[in-house]
Amino acid sequence: MALAYPPFKSCPCGSGRSYAHCCGPFHAGMRAPTPEALMRSRYSAYALSNAAYVLDTWHPDTRPATLDLRDGTRYLGLRVRGSAGNHVEFTAQLRLPDGERYTLRENSEFTQLGGRWVYVDGVTPAAADADPA
Ligand SMILES: [Zn+2]
Repeated sequence: MALAYPPFKSCPCGSGRSYAHCCGPFHAGMRAPTPEALMRSRYSAYALSNAAYVLDTWHPDTRPATLDLRDGTRYLGLRVRGSAGNHVEFTAQLRLPDGERYTLRENSEFTQLGGRWVYVDGVTPAAADADPA
């Protein structure tokens, strides 16, 4: 797996830091220290079509058997709206394969498994329609 993403470029997760000082080390095998760090690194993995990382950080009970991240979806931006305990709420701006723009808003749940954080699942916050990103 070779990801041709320059380490000095801004991280896809929108942190403002370079990839090498943000999500890059997690993609290279370092453990994300917090649910928010893991959430950001998973977003970056989606943006970089790194399906292996997305699956590897997904709880085995909820993980899909396969994941195709080369369907043409573009990941335009991420905003972490808040995190508390093992939950992180975020909005992600996507452009779907048909060109339509889509705002994904999710409250994700994480848990620790074998000493590392993994994604369990997510729900759409009830206020999503009343409070657009
Ligand atoms: Zn990042």
